[in-house]
Amino acid sequence: MNMNEYQSFASRTAKAGNVGFKNIISDYCMGLAGESGEVVDYLKKVVHHGHELDQDKLEKELGDVLWYLSQVAKLYNIPLARIAQLNIAKLQKRFPNGFNTEDSLRRVDTFDKG
Ligand SMILES: [Mg+2]
Repeated sequence: MNMNEYQSFASRTAKAGNVGFKNIISDYCMGLAGESGEVVDYLKKVVHHGHELDQDKLEKELGDVLWYLSQVAKLYNIPLARIAQLNIAKLQKRFPNGFNTEDSLRRVDTFDKG
């Protein structure tokens, strides 16, 4: 499945009905932050509290983040694959030889809305 196909499939369980754009974007942004928090909290327990990593649980929580991300993008008519392409292009410009501290401090793309 490619990213745009995922975005389309994910929309099957998106909020339906005439509840208003502000209501939906608010719901999805809270969901995105909440699910991101679930990933962070879970990894906190794994890294700092001695919990054993459950790969399946981590994959499902990351999927929840992806679902909300895809639906926020969809509300603004942005194909998920475009977000991925733009992010890779930005990172290739910022870190042409892979991540390093010098390039991170220099941030050549700072004036490119990045
Ligand atoms: Mg979750």
